Amino acid sequence: MVRVRFAPSPTGALHIGGAHTALFNYLFARRLDGKFILRIEDTDTERSSKEYEAIILESLKWLGIEWDEGPYYQSKRLDLYREKANELLKKGVAYECFCTPEELKERREMMVKMGRPPKYDGRCRDLSEEQKRELRAKGLKPALRIRIPEGKSFLRDAVKGEVSCSNDSLGGDMVIMKSDNYPTYNFAVVVDDIDMNITHVIRGDDHLTNTFKQMIIYKAFGKDLPKFAHIPLLLGPDKTKLSKRHGAASVLEYKEMGYLSDALFNFLSLLGWTPKEGQEIFSRDELISMFCLAKLNSNPAVFDIKRLEWMNSQY
Ligand code: GLU
Repeated sequence: MVRVRFAPSPTGALHIGGAHTALFNYLFARRLDGKFILRIEDTDTERSSKEYEAIILESLKWLGIEWDEGPYYQSKRLDLYREKANELLKKGVAYECFCTPEELKERREMMVKMGRPPKYDGRCRDLSEEQKRELRAKGLKPALRIRIPEGKSFLRDAVKGEVSCSNDSLGGDMVIMKSDNYPTYNFAVVVDDIDMNITHVIRGDDHLTNTFKQMIIYKAFGKDLPKFAHIPLLLGPDKTKLSKRHGAASVLEYKEMGYLSDALFNFLSLLGWTPKEGQEIFSRDELISMFCLAKLNSNPAVFDIKRLEWMNSQY
């Protein structure tokens, strides 16, 4: 059974890029009679808001991207992340790190000065019980880090094909729980994707480095990887990262401007995918019946507001 998820952080409205990712997950789930799960990634309490969350849900509903499960909230799942982090601590793949942000910054700056890429130097990797007691007695609260093994990681991505990454470029042993007892983004995502039995992770390719980090967490839990599909980011006609100046608005702004949900659905589906040469207008059912991850383009798609306007005029 296929299970995919869309996992927005409620730190802003739903933009074209986010809607595009949600849509590809939705088309894939519907094509294979799977489940589309909605998960709100709201552990960053300072940047997340209920208002943005409401806007995201309303945008998805207006676009007709219905979810089958959720919304689940990461902020309500903190006990699970803590339990799972302790599991890795007991296994010895994670360890307590007492370095303060100031110390880390200082050491990173030193590495840069010496011409080395800044990464965690593993200082707390092998602290004795006694050293930890002493550090605790000073009032220091530890973060948890996971050991990053040396070597290279390989990924067979459904859109990009074979991709590899040197583990050395991942920034050193990675924090999974911060000293305030909140999970980091990468850790919460993996715990949730495992717990929610996610079979396919379809998201923007700006997450590729995160995927390599997340693969290390899967391994630490002894779990099989889901299939990954990294879809290229959208660009403006001038080939730079899509933004407001290309005429790209948030989903609800398009609604307010009078665009039709069917037209935007059609338009987004064709960014990075050509279901059929020579045809531009498709019904939702046609798009679902033709959707195929392997057919997605691995080059960035260009957002062109004129094409959207034209499509809108066809409905
Ligand atoms: N919350 C992440 C974001 O909004 C989700 C990334 C993911 O799909 O894992 O970018």
